Amino acid sequence: MTDANTYAVLFEPVRIGPVTARNRFYQVPHCNGMGHVRPRAEAANRGMKAEGGWAVVSTQETEIHPTSDLSPFAENRLWDERDIPALRLMTEAVHAHGALAAIELAHNGNHAQNLFSRAPVFAPSDMSLDYAIPKQARAMDKADIRAFRRWHRDAALRARDAGFDVIYVYAGHRMTLAQHFLLPHMNQRGDEYGGSLENRVRLTRELLEDTREAVGDTCAVAFRFAVDEMLGADGMQAAEEGRAVVELLAELPDLWDVNVCDWPNDSVTTRFQPQDGYQNDYIAFVKAVTSKPVVGVGRLTSPDQMVSMIRKGIVDLIGAARPSIADPFLPRKIEEGRIDEIRECIGCNICVSADTQGVPIRCTQNPTMGEEWRRGWHPEKIAPKGREEAALVIGAGPAGLECAMQLARRGYEVTLAEARAEAGGRVLRESALPGLAAWKRVADYRLNDLAQRANVRLFTESRLDADAVLELGIPNVFVATGATWRRDGIGRTGQRRPPVIDPAARVLTPDDIMDGRTPPDGPVAIYDDDQAYLAGVLAERLAEAGHHVAFVTPASVVSPWTDLTLEQARVQARLIKLGVEIRCTRQMLALGPDRMRTACIYSGREEDIPCASAVLVTERHRDTALYDALRDRGGFRTLELIGDAASPGLIADAVYSGHLAARNFERDPGEIDRDWFRREMVALEP
Ligand code: ADP
Ligand code: SF4
Repeated sequence: MTDANTYAVLFEPVRIGPVTARNRFYQVPHCNGMGHVRPRAEAANRGMKAEGGWAVVSTQETEIHPTSDLSPFAENRLWDERDIPALRLMTEAVHAHGALAAIELAHNGNHAQNLFSRAPVFAPSDMSLDYAIPKQARAMDKADIRAFRRWHRDAALRARDAGFDVIYVYAGHRMTLAQHFLLPHMNQRGDEYGGSLENRVRLTRELLEDTREAVGDTCAVAFRFAVDEMLGADGMQAAEEGRAVVELLAELPDLWDVNVCDWPNDSVTTRFQPQDGYQNDYIAFVKAVTSKPVVGVGRLTSPDQMVSMIRKGIVDLIGAARPSIADPFLPRKIEEGRIDEIRECIGCNICVSADTQGVPIRCTQNPTMGEEWRRGWHPEKIAPKGREEAALVIGAGPAGLECAMQLARRGYEVTLAEARAEAGGRVLRESALPGLAAWKRVADYRLNDLAQRANVRLFTESRLDADAVLELGIPNVFVATGATWRRDGIGRTGQRRPPVIDPAARVLTPDDIMDGRTPPDGPVAIYDDDQAYLAGVLAERLAEAGHHVAFVTPASVVSPWTDLTLEQARVQARLIKLGVEIRCTRQMLALGPDRMRTACIYSGREEDIPCASAVLVTERHRDTALYDALRDRGGFRTLELIGDAASPGLIADAVYSGHLAARNFERDPGEIDRDWFRREMVALEP
């Protein structure tokens, strides 16, 4: 426990135009994959943040018109008054816990594909879409601009009617019309909306004035603005036009919500930006230019850093998207001095991947994220135990740790056994790889929690076999023994034509590298048929250690899955910089002592890649031997396989699996099977 006074400054109220935030914690707009498609889930998700102590809780971007249709992504929608009731669910949930509700009105210009509405796409000038589809955006004429201003104003009025307290004009992430007009490389107009900065800023100024005129008496007008495009001289820079925009509009909004763009820069992962507060250098000037309150972000989880940012005058409000996802109760925990109970964001962007796929948000650290409404999960509360007294969890990776922690919270006597000297499983091993150090927080948070509890016994260096488990005499057993990378080169591509591995070939798996084995001298070929993140990280590790690395993959780019976490371009750039030889669209046919035989996946043309050893990143075998033996012996009241041993996936999936098993323990299996979770059914109106 920390003296709560240390952080008292964070709990001062802040006036924002006509409304007052109860403290300085501000959940900035962030996507959650629910939006207009799942309004009850959206409301419950945002309401949970309010309960957790955030003073302002925002929507995600909210489409104001069919010409800004972000389908198939599940953002918010306010095209007309029929959308008001769904959004009112959210404002009511937020108000019920004493927070202000903010709405990010958005017209996405050429970032909207309008796939559902089939409306024309708008931009300042004729240009391609922000997606590689055969469709172009058209330059808005004066009538279009007048219409756009009217749509935005009408949306602001509807937002007020839905109960919002803070209404945004949004010029950020290179995703909205207001910003597109600001940027000279997107705005080549010759009229009063193009050319000089004063002209390019005109539309934003009009939107701010329109919004204030429409709703400014009761609602605060916030302006979200990306001060720096992070493109150097090729884009808007904080030190130049970014600052000039703030100077031109300084007192017009009631609140400045400032960040950098585009989204991969704003929400950069810890792998590529380990420093929390990484936006401070860019946004620090804003407060000197305006008298209005300023909110900024940068993966802020440390209360000391938050206090220092307030004291140094960098921001007035602590903005957070990801830290509020990993721990919706972050403000409450700080207020109550429970600092070591904060579930810190690890900056992995699994949350982002959900939005990018149009499904409800999930989080590696917080398995209840996105489950508030459909499963009724609360991040800080769990049902007390039933009749059973004790449980054994085998394996202390992310699944076992989460399962044990939640079972302990429910009040069971929990025994957790881990074969290795240190608990953490794959989290511990992967977090030792380049750029992934912050991932260790997944294990640290849970181990710290377990250590506080009298009803938990953790045994390390305790590899259990079936006899040992039976000897313990605990009737409820959760097996979280994980999975092991396979050695035979079989994976998604190799299934159809398994590669031939010469017994003399020197094969390593990701597990070998993580256990500290180093490849022999000579070139190493990494074969990535997993196509997620791990092979790219291993390539980095081996290249940094001085090996010549050939990265061979059937995919068209390096680590294609990392596109979902906004990392792919950075991953490929880093490998190129490290001198890794990148060989895409190649399937491994055979591996010998000094070469990998590959074939082009399109033409079949074969080619040898010289290598003294190969690291095969393809698939994992589930480690079920212990579970199988226990099932054969029988006699348990509960015997459940969880985590990667049940279904290999992300760390987030393992945590979720452990959490789910702990929640479901002692529930009627029939009920669980009948009722996975609540769903929002489409009303079949006449
Ligand atoms: P998950 O992601 O499902 O949690 P991990 O592979 O991260 O899986 O963790 C599994 C953990 O289980 C590892 O730390 C491993 O050492 C441990 N383990 C595997 N078999 C046994 C066993 N028989 N007894 C105890 N611990 C085990
Ligand atoms: Fe942070 Fe990862 Fe959770 Fe996103 S998924 S909030 S980046 S821990």
